[in-house]
Amino acid sequence: MALIITDECINCDVCEPECPNGAIAMGEEIYEIDPLKCTECVGHFDEPQCVVVCPVDCIPKDPEHPENQQQLLGKFFRLHPDKTPYLQGGLKT
Ligand code: SF4
Ligand code: SF4
Repeated sequence: MALIITDECINCDVCEPECPNGAIAMGEEIYEIDPLKCTECVGHFDEPQCVVVCPVDCIPKDPEHPENQQQLLGKFFRLHPDKTPYLQGGLKT
């Protein structure tokens, strides 16, 4: 499932450089996540890095974009065809 930034975002700028997929960008008023690029950090890290750094905890999963781990990994391969995914603990299903 892609994540979404809610209107509680305070535009602190810390999440944008942490995204390994370049999925976070400034929108009209607050930062936004491109659901076509967000993999929940699957293939890169164990945890969503934007959620780890966000000081106001405003990045929940987006129920409008349901995806399982396999689909998220497929997105990783589309975004990074030359990279080997990091999968600590194996792929959750
Ligand atoms: Fe980027 Fe990972 Fe956050 Fe998705 S969960 S927006 S891939 S940092
Ligand atoms: Fe907004 Fe959280 Fe990103 Fe800061 S880290 S810009 S508050 S979503």
